[in-house]
Amino acid sequence: MAFFRKCKSLMLSGEMDKAYHHMMNYSAKRPLDINIETTTICPMKCKFCCNRIFPRDKVVMPVNMFQSIVKEYISMGGGHSA
Ligand code: SF4
Repeated sequence: MAFFRKCKSLMLSGEMDKAYHHMMNYSAKRPLDINIETTTICPMKCKFCCNRIFPRDKVVMPVNMFQSIVKEYISMGGGHSA
């Protein structure tokens, strides 16, 4: 939360450049979030999505692979600090 408090403080005091650099330094050290595509299966047909025409197997990610990715993410210090 110290990260967000400092960002907020810098922004409220109008120091936008410092707030930007604070955020960039923070995110360069560790990933803030992660997106995991756990399946390629989807029954929907959203017009903007290439999923239905993208030539790849329809699969579900094995649970052990998902767990491995999350563990690696955590070991890298991923996520927001408490
Ligand atoms: S965006 Fe693509 S993957 Fe997501 S619900 Fe629509 S069709 Fe499915």
